[in-house]
Amino acid sequence: MPEEVLIERMTWTDVRDAMAAGKRTVIVPVAAMEQHGPHMAIGTDTYLGYEISVRLAKALGDGLVAPAIGIGYSVGHLPMPGTVSISEETLAIVIREVVDSLVSHGFTDIVLLSSHGGNYGALNAAVPGLREAYPQVRVHSRTDFESGMRRRQALLRELDLDPARVGVHAGQGETSMMLACHPDLVDMERAVEGFTGDASIRWRSKVPPPMTETSPTGILGDARGSTAELGERLLAHEVAEWVRALRAGELLG
Ligand SMILES: [Zn+2]
Repeated sequence: MPEEVLIERMTWTDVRDAMAAGKRTVIVPVAAMEQHGPHMAIGTDTYLGYEISVRLAKALGDGLVAPAIGIGYSVGHLPMPGTVSISEETLAIVIREVVDSLVSHGFTDIVLLSSHGGNYGALNAAVPGLREAYPQVRVHSRTDFESGMRRRQALLRELDLDPARVGVHAGQGETSMMLACHPDLVDMERAVEGFTGDASIRWRSKVPPPMTETSPTGILGDARGSTAELGERLLAHEVAEWVRALRAGELLG
């Protein structure tokens, strides 16, 4: 049987035994339930959060994956039906209490893996208090959205890709990654070009403007030309970058 790392698919005795055998790192996907264009499922950030987390757990060798926090701060996407959002304050409390549960079991390393840019405010609000409450535990989290964006732009240039097309939401980047792991949730016949201009106002504003004002399709980027092969490369890079940053201790604040 293939090795299981997803806690929600394991029994509690499996989790206990895996921890006793040395799996003391737990990855928490901090995701979202928001529109991803006319061509892709609303759960995209949650599915991608799980995919990256599972690959990361296996790459680390001592990791398990907690149930995802599947609803995030997605207020700007609410004009599109099906999107579900909670406030940053609520999300910060959920993050804190999920970590409280995992710490009580004896995990020594908690990795908060956000697959949705809108969650950074809540992570930044929750993480300092967690580190203070649990000095015996290492709480790893990316907290700087802007530096993540810069690193990503550099990677895309290296891969000879156009950042405007890859996009930041439901464009070639996310669409390709979904084609690599959940092709059944993507309809390439409905993949269109979205807004390809400067979308940074969306993450520079405390409350992002309604997505309908920036992109009526809900896409930031261009979903056309997405391929599973590109998605596989992006996923592999993302996982390698997490492994590198974790091993270097870069995500400890
Ligand atoms: Zn997304």
